[in-house]
Amino acid sequence: MPKMQQTRVSHFPIEARTEVETLPFSAPAFLTCAAAGDMKPPEPPDAPGHAGATAAGAAYGMPPGDPRSQVFAAAGVRGARLLSVKQEHTREVLTAEEVAAHALEHGVGARLPADGIVGDNPEFLLGVTVADCMPIYLHDRVRNVVAMLHSGWKGTGILPRALELMHRRWGSAAGEVGVLLGPAIQACCYEVDADRALGFQAEFGEEAARRRGGSWYLDLQAANRSLGERAGVAEISICTSCTCCGEGLFSYRREGPEAYRRMLAAIRAPARETAG
Ligand SMILES: [Zn+2]
Repeated sequence: MPKMQQTRVSHFPIEARTEVETLPFSAPAFLTCAAAGDMKPPEPPDAPGHAGATAAGAAYGMPPGDPRSQVFAAAGVRGARLLSVKQEHTREVLTAEEVAAHALEHGVGARLPADGIVGDNPEFLLGVTVADCMPIYLHDRVRNVVAMLHSGWKGTGILPRALELMHRRWGSAAGEVGVLLGPAIQACCYEVDADRALGFQAEFGEEAARRRGGSWYLDLQAANRSLGERAGVAEISICTSCTCCGEGLFSYRREGPEAYRRMLAAIRAPARETAG
């Protein structure tokens, strides 16, 4: 067995003062905050051949962007086409090529079911929507491959699945991948029943749930830190802000199933240096 390197772990808060926050990461990583409004995905097109699938995106074989791209354009994130998936709290991860090909064929708003996207093309912004669930950002700094994952309690475990896909498709080694765990509900607020807490502990370790005052609370940050350390990733940066009790962020638990709004988490591969 090769000796596994030690994962470096650090923490950071998020101020959430602007529409689009740039997170401290080795690749361009963003989160829209409450100031940007609801980032609900656009409705799927009525039929194939929808106006979305036109020549406007011919340069990259893509339909015109998701209207949510405008928020990023306003924040100075230029020239990127947003790719997103139909999130279902799974551990499924797709490549950006698969997601883009589907959008081209079926139009803007048509999304394949998955909870993560991996790619190396800087023309794409890989996006997921969150409201308490954790956005997880990955970057292989050697091969310039990035991933954007949506990981709530049910999807926890998607992180190693993304690392597997990065390894299979690009040859990424976990020891060269940095991970950022973005703003999510924290153990201060994430009360669950005992069954879910004990199941979480059994799969992700003792620290993945805590008991306090007779109630159980999940710790998504601890669960994903444990998954990252077990996989041997180079570093893990953990956001300390709680979406539920913090400022400027949306929360499913605080706003409720009828009224909740979504934030959009996105990453893009760093642009490659071009010769000449
Ligand atoms: Zn909280």
